Amino acid sequence: MTTLVVLFLLWLVGYYLACQIWPYKACGRCQGGKHESPSGKAWRNCFRCGGSGKKRRLLARKP
Ligand SMILES: [Zn+2]
Repeated sequence: MTTLVVLFLLWLVGYYLACQIWPYKACGRCQGGKHESPSGKAWRNCFRCGGSGKKRRLLARKP
């Protein structure tokens, strides 16, 4: 049981550090910030990421 807690804490520290170095992940709702129309010639910005195509990770610091 204690080993599990230690492993979880180690993972958490590693994840936190990784979030500081690589603070963004790809937005899962769009392709690079674009929602394409059926024709593929027009698009609108994704409402989730604001058209940037990236999302801040859980433990990343605010910009
Ligand atoms: Zn998006």
